[in-house]
Amino acid sequence: MATDAWFRAAASKQGRWSLDEIIYRAPDGDLLEVAHDLEALRALRDGPAWRQHWDARLAPGVPPASSGVWSKRELVLPQLPAADIVSLGEGNTPLVQATGLGRDLGLDELWIKQCGTSHTGSFKDLGMTVLVSQVNHMIRSGAPILGVACASTGDTSAALAAYCAAAGIPAVVLIPADKISPAQLVQPISNHALTLALETDFDGCMRLVQQLTEDRRLYLANSMNSLRVEGQKTVAIEIIQQFGWEVPQWIFIPGGNLGNVSALYKGLEEIRDLGLIDRLPTIVCCQAEAANPLYRAYHNDWRCEPITAAPTLASAIRIGDPVSRDKAIAALRRHGGLVAQASEQQLADACARADRHGQFTCPHTGVALAAVEQFAAAGRIARGERVVVISTAHGLKFNNIKTAYHERALAGLDAPLANQAVRLEASPQAVYDAVERHIAG
Ligand SMILES: *Cc1c(COP(=O)(O)O)cnc(C)c1O
Repeated sequence: MATDAWFRAAASKQGRWSLDEIIYRAPDGDLLEVAHDLEALRALRDGPAWRQHWDARLAPGVPPASSGVWSKRELVLPQLPAADIVSLGEGNTPLVQATGLGRDLGLDELWIKQCGTSHTGSFKDLGMTVLVSQVNHMIRSGAPILGVACASTGDTSAALAAYCAAAGIPAVVLIPADKISPAQLVQPISNHALTLALETDFDGCMRLVQQLTEDRRLYLANSMNSLRVEGQKTVAIEIIQQFGWEVPQWIFIPGGNLGNVSALYKGLEEIRDLGLIDRLPTIVCCQAEAANPLYRAYHNDWRCEPITAAPTLASAIRIGDPVSRDKAIAALRRHGGLVAQASEQQLADACARADRHGQFTCPHTGVALAAVEQFAAAGRIARGERVVVISTAHGLKFNNIKTAYHERALAGLDAPLANQAVRLEASPQAVYDAVERHIAG
């Protein structure tokens, strides 16, 4: 029997609305969250039994049960009919030990959670499968929804377009003109989304999509819609599950609109309340210095003022007025979470350093890796502690930036770790000479 889940106000925990209602905020303006009947879930199984139950689903299984998200469906959308699920095989992404990089930084255990190894190349797939599945359910039940809309810094629109196309639901994506990578732009175009490049920044797109979705014929897919958080939170559960249910000491995660860090905490709190774990890791939310309203708030008694975000290589987190800031700040304060920032030079070099050890990192992952470098250099990470970096997107989505780094073509930045293609005559001697130079250099 499915347990109950419903919307309620995220801060006050008040109110109760059906998940089938088209509603994004409480009457007082607070964001919503999906509440689960944890008592009923506890009555079904104790913590160890939940671990076993979810582990069993990960054995090479039949989709969608084997999806990283839907394998936890009792804690995601317990009442959604299985036939309405729209899955593209999201989640269950590799958790990879970065041994050489960790050693260089003086860390005993550095791990990278590769959320970019996913259908559309970013963690946004985790939330979008949940949102689009619920919309699919509502449309099949007769709700008069024309389509689903989002504002995006690139990855949200890619995920929305793919899941909507798979379900046969029209998608409308609002992106800031000329501010997302070419690889990100071609994704919604290929998936036949109505792709609108607007002459504004992300915050401008966000304001517009909120106005557009007021009349409810267009359903809102941004992470202020708490359905997305329900999918994204599973990454926290998945990481701990991949460690055999051992909780790491640290998780570093890049943050922009701050839905993802809020999701991480929600997942962790819920599995703690269900008895699967007994403590939380220390979470460090990492921002680009050019778009750092949370970092400023952290140093200003958690008072968060919107800013105009400046350009950053980490374009997916170029956000000055994060929509989930209250949720994120409340959770960070509750658990002693930390906030770090990285300059453009630091994030670019952190990417290159990780890549040199076999990674292929996106600039947002670079922000988190740069924060790890800072913490390691300052001696804040003790011997034996396990550090996880959440890599939010695949490096291939940001080939333009990575290429520019290695061509030393990033304006105003050095590229101490640049590597370049070598043009040679096709002779064995020339190749051996080049190999020797490469090894020496
Ligand atoms: C969306 C996104 C983020 C930031 O997540 P928020 O929920 O907006 O904080 C980070 N990295 C990448 C690659 C993203 O697409």
